[in-house]
Amino acid sequence: MTQAKLLREGDLGILRIDNPPVNALGEQLVGDLIDGFAQFEADTSLIGLVIECVGRTFVAGGDIAAFENPEFSAIPMNALLGRIEGCSRPVVAALHGTVLGGGLELAMACHVRVAHPQTIFGLPEILLGLIPGSLGTQRLPRLVGLELAYQMISTGKPISAAHALSAGLADALDDLPGVAARTMAHDCAGADLRRTSELTPPDIGNAGAVLDAARRASDKAPWLLTRRAVADCMAAAATLPFAEGEAAEARAFNGLVHSTQSRAQRRLFFAEREAQKIPGLSGDLRPRNIQRVGIVGVGTMGGGIAMCFANAGFPVTLVETTPEALERGRGLIAKAYAGSVKRGILSAEAAAEREGAMTGSTDMSALADCDIVVEAVFEDMKLKLDVAQKLGAICKPGAIIATNTSTLDVDQIAAATGRAADVIGTHFFSPAHIMKLLEVVRGAQTAPDTLLTVMKLAKRIAKTAVVSGVCYGFIGNRMAEVYGRENEAMLLEGASPAQIDGVAQSPDFIGLAMGPNRMLDMAGVDVGARTVIEWIASGEGPQEPNYRVVCQALFQRGQNGQKTGHGYYLYNDGKPVPSNATAALCAQLAAEHGVTRRDNIPDQEIFERLLFPMVNEAALILEEGIAYRAGDIDVVWTSGYGFPAWQGGPIFMADEIGLDRIVARMDHYAQVLGNPHGYWTPAPLLRKLAESGGRLSDWKRV
Ligand code: NAD
Repeated sequence: MTQAKLLREGDLGILRIDNPPVNALGEQLVGDLIDGFAQFEADTSLIGLVIECVGRTFVAGGDIAAFENPEFSAIPMNALLGRIEGCSRPVVAALHGTVLGGGLELAMACHVRVAHPQTIFGLPEILLGLIPGSLGTQRLPRLVGLELAYQMISTGKPISAAHALSAGLADALDDLPGVAARTMAHDCAGADLRRTSELTPPDIGNAGAVLDAARRASDKAPWLLTRRAVADCMAAAATLPFAEGEAAEARAFNGLVHSTQSRAQRRLFFAEREAQKIPGLSGDLRPRNIQRVGIVGVGTMGGGIAMCFANAGFPVTLVETTPEALERGRGLIAKAYAGSVKRGILSAEAAAEREGAMTGSTDMSALADCDIVVEAVFEDMKLKLDVAQKLGAICKPGAIIATNTSTLDVDQIAAATGRAADVIGTHFFSPAHIMKLLEVVRGAQTAPDTLLTVMKLAKRIAKTAVVSGVCYGFIGNRMAEVYGRENEAMLLEGASPAQIDGVAQSPDFIGLAMGPNRMLDMAGVDVGARTVIEWIASGEGPQEPNYRVVCQALFQRGQNGQKTGHGYYLYNDGKPVPSNATAALCAQLAAEHGVTRRDNIPDQEIFERLLFPMVNEAALILEEGIAYRAGDIDVVWTSGYGFPAWQGGPIFMADEIGLDRIVARMDHYAQVLGNPHGYWTPAPLLRKLAESGGRLSDWKRV
């Protein structure tokens, strides 16, 4: 079926695109556009052309999968855009929906753009580790100026139709853009046509400042290939003739499209979507109706979770133990909203409305009319079981009971409610109203419609949901545990928190947003230590006497991290500096536990001991069926733990390093460090894939 064809309407040609669901540009659509446009060129009885789309949107981007093809070339599309722009008869784009990527590039090659007032315009390629490859980097600055173009291209953030109009990207807004575009095509026939490639960026006088900013951003993160590419293309747009800019963009794009960084980000793009596909949910299953949300425990997490729901328009009932605790919780929420208002990302009215959507109580029976209740009380099993039992009795039939536990057994909590089918884990990340990730923990008894409802709800509150099975720490914290374990082992062996964090944060190794010691100081050493202590006490956790003793000892000393001004680091005006006390503590604990100290632990060893156990744990998680697929695990780490998207997540990174190398290094550490607890024994799946030359990234259970 053709995806675009030329129609004749009186003396106008209409090039109509029809490629559901979002009119994505792929090889076939480009081919059909070339054919359709050639017919228009040949038919000189037509005085102008309107390009429009059927369905809910104009072209909303390119076919991302096509970039995997080593033969992919932007040349045919770019040549078509050149012919459209060079045409002596007017070509008008009628825009609606989301005009993104190749869609916007097509529109910018037209002589006139008319858009519906709700249209969104953007060049989001950077989010895939790319830049626009069909002259977007050259035409956009000529239309809207270098500054706004740089902003849009370097962040991938779209702009509204009103903004597009004021910036010169849209020429007119109209509720019926197709009708208006036809009028425009008639009006422009025979007149001088405005060709984007012939324009000078309107803010060319300010070019130096924009190019400096682009260059500085690139110098600040020289490992990010996209930054350099964007800086080069902006410079080309400001200083070179269009044809040379075209060549500069092609060079930059071709350098990116086959890069590991872009492959990593494109895979994550697909993995995030695939994570929404849940085995065992039949097509005719209906989600439960969710109108009112309840939160039990309005602390750090409960407050943030309440905001997530209020932000999405849900009325929320908050329950705390005492009026003071409720007041404190509401205070936290008010402070967070005030911060958003101050930063200009929320209006004072909207903040007031959202706070107004929350009602508080110290009586759990206030939750009786809620359709879902999220429990976020302290991480204490006895308390959780008590709350679960009460919720089981109070919540109305069909209401969902969700727990925000980070590590505890969701099945045990579910059993305590007496209605396990309604129970599920919703593991939010701190700060809950900001972090994208939501780990959805599917219990053994969780009903399919409970799961479906929560997955749909996650979408409504703009979270990236990933399903995990029940185990200690689920996907993310279970892997973080082995990373924390090796961190502490290396602290005992003589590495400093700063050295370990430096390796974790260095883009030469991983490039994490924060190393393990900074992270624990920020989240609260007490929070981490309590979890470890409870895990060990439960008998389920490791029983070796030196297991994560550093965090436990810091906790005993009240060195709870940033909030107490001292943890792994000492905090001077909020800035972490090395702590002699922590260094002495590590040496003392090493002596107590008979750990041999070394003067110099190589950075490469630190890197391998942080990453490889996580990869091994990921393989176990897959084998045990805790995660459905490898992509889910990489989504968890990139959207919840500050793992850089350009590295693709721990599993993608492991595949790039080579599983055979990882297994060899694990065998090596088993020998040199000793392996009494099996920490360095490769998971069977990892060893098998290493031997067969397979990749873990591609592994899926379903
Ligand atoms: P918090 O100490 O900040 O808040 C807990 C709140 O629960 C307190 O305000 C307390 O008064 C209230 N509470 C205790 N018992 C209650 C009861 N019976 N009824 C009503 N309220 C009660 O703790 P937090 O950091 O928000 O953690 C809450 C949960 O979220 C824990 O299970 C924790 O493991 C999990 N979690 C925490 C983080 C994090 O980074 N802090 C991240 C993910 C998950």
